[in-house]
Amino acid sequence: MRLNTYEHIIKSRKSAHKFLLKFCWKNHQRFCPRCSNRKLYSLGSGRRRCSRCKYTFHDFSLRFINFARLSPRQWLRFIKLFELEVDPDMMADQLGVSYNTIRKALTISRLSVLAGSLDGPQIIKNLKLVSLLRNSSAPDFPSPVLGILPSRGKVFIDYIPDLTLETLLHFRLNFFLRTRCMGRIIYTAPYKKYLSLIAWDDGFFSHRKISYERDKLPLDTHKEFWPYASSKLKKFRTVNPLRLLLYLKELEFRFNHSNEDPFPALCSRLCSFVPDLE
Ligand SMILES: [Zn+2]
Repeated sequence: MRLNTYEHIIKSRKSAHKFLLKFCWKNHQRFCPRCSNRKLYSLGSGRRRCSRCKYTFHDFSLRFINFARLSPRQWLRFIKLFELEVDPDMMADQLGVSYNTIRKALTISRLSVLAGSLDGPQIIKNLKLVSLLRNSSAPDFPSPVLGILPSRGKVFIDYIPDLTLETLLHFRLNFFLRTRCMGRIIYTAPYKKYLSLIAWDDGFFSHRKISYERDKLPLDTHKEFWPYASSKLKKFRTVNPLRLLLYLKELEFRFNHSNEDPFPALCSRLCSFVPDLE
C-alpha cells in the first residue's frame, strides 16, 4: 500500500478502526464468535451479547489483533513497519512503545501468518502455540523439521511432524542424505516431494561433529525462493527453534505475496480468529 493511501486510512482513530473492521466482518454482518449465532444484543461501549450462548464480545474479541495492547492506529503503523521489515528496535522507537510490546506484536503477527497457511491451524493446535499469545516465553519444543516445496513461482513450507533432528541425523548417517548447514540452520538434498528439509540445530548435530556436504545441493541452485530466503536466513538468530518455524512461514507468506500488496493481506491475517483458542 502506497503511503498516500495509508495516510488516508490512518488519519483518525475512527478511520483506522473502520479500516480494520472491514477485515473482521463481511458486509458488516456481525455474529457471535463462539457459536456463530446472528441474534445479538447491543450493549454500551460498542460491545454485543449473544442471545444464545450469552457471550459478550467486541469487534476484535478472539482475533489475533486483540492480543496486544495497541490501538487500531498503532496496529496499522506497526503493520506498515512489519511489511517493510523494519528492525524491532527501530519499530519501538518509531511507535513510541516498549521493545517488549514490539516483540509481542511480532509474535502475534507471525502466528496470524502461520494460521493463514495451509497447515497452519493444525500446527497451532498440535504444538499448542496459542500459549505464545498469552505468555512472553515460547513453549519448550524440540526443533521442528520443515519441507520446502517450490511450485509454479510459489513456495509451500510444510511442518513435518513425523520428522525430528534425530531422524535427519539417521538419514544423514545411514541413508547418506546430503546435508549442508548455514550457521545453525541445517538443510538437505531432496526428500520425497520436498526440494529440501530444513531445521534449526539446537546442538544435536553440532555436538556430534557431523561433517557437512561442501557441494551445492538442489536447494542452493534453486532460482526463485532460495536466493530470496537464504540472504534473510543468514541473519536469523534464535534461542528457541520454534522461531525458525514461524520465520519460515513468514518468508513463505512474503514470497507468495511478492507480486501483490502485502498490507491488506497482513491486516486480514491479524483480524482473523485465533484457531484452537480455549
Ligand atoms: Zn454465541
